[in-house]
Amino acid sequence: MTEDTTEAERKMQFLYALRSKGVTDKRVLSAMETIDRGPFIRGIFAGRAYEDMPLPIACGQTISQPSVVGLMTQALALTPRDKVLEVGTGSGYQAAILSRLARRVYTVDRHSRLVREARALFDEMNLTNITAITADGSYGLPDQAPFDRILVTAAAEDPPSTLMDQLKTGGIMVIPVGQSDAVQHLIVVRKTENGLEYDELRQVRFVPLLEGLGNDA
Ligand code: SAH
Repeated sequence: MTEDTTEAERKMQFLYALRSKGVTDKRVLSAMETIDRGPFIRGIFAGRAYEDMPLPIACGQTISQPSVVGLMTQALALTPRDKVLEVGTGSGYQAAILSRLARRVYTVDRHSRLVREARALFDEMNLTNITAITADGSYGLPDQAPFDRILVTAAAEDPPSTLMDQLKTGGIMVIPVGQSDAVQHLIVVRKTENGLEYDELRQVRFVPLLEGLGNDA
């Protein structure tokens, strides 16, 4: 009984933190309520899974802050018909959220260990519309292109043109832009018939988008 209350309180606090930081889309909030962040964080930080902060995961990477996950997901304005590419699987948490709101999610990471571990979680959670692949996501996923939405969860100095090319007209890409050791800006790019439209969401801090595969691959 006591444990149940604590769990419910934690969940309420988690959702409250999201709302107070600007995550207001009901479908996004509901997806984030359904997908438990706990299993995506292992080891000594597991107890902090419901706090609104980024946390370390394997391979020297980080799982993003939940409110940033929420804001990026919201900015994608997903529809249930969408085919989405995520670059930077990391823990798999963001991909799991996307899978609740889109038709199909392809997620790539340069570290094969992260991809393997994320895949196991997707299976456990029965999230059957996610395909996780070890690849250098700077080149996108040509076999599955074009995409309705692209989400990059590592910072690039410029939005890679290969990724832009793999976005459908009418599509949206969300990407943190800036140097890895400096302030980065979360950018929303809309590809229209008349060209690209850019919007800046907020300042963020992400690990860098690196070239090539990780050395565990
Ligand atoms: N979205 C993740 C957090 C991503 S952290 C989550 O929900 O947990 C950023 C990830 O981007 C890291 O796992 C890193 O390995 C990956 N990454 C960096 N450069 C990459 C590249 N060129 N291709 C694919 N993945 C890359």
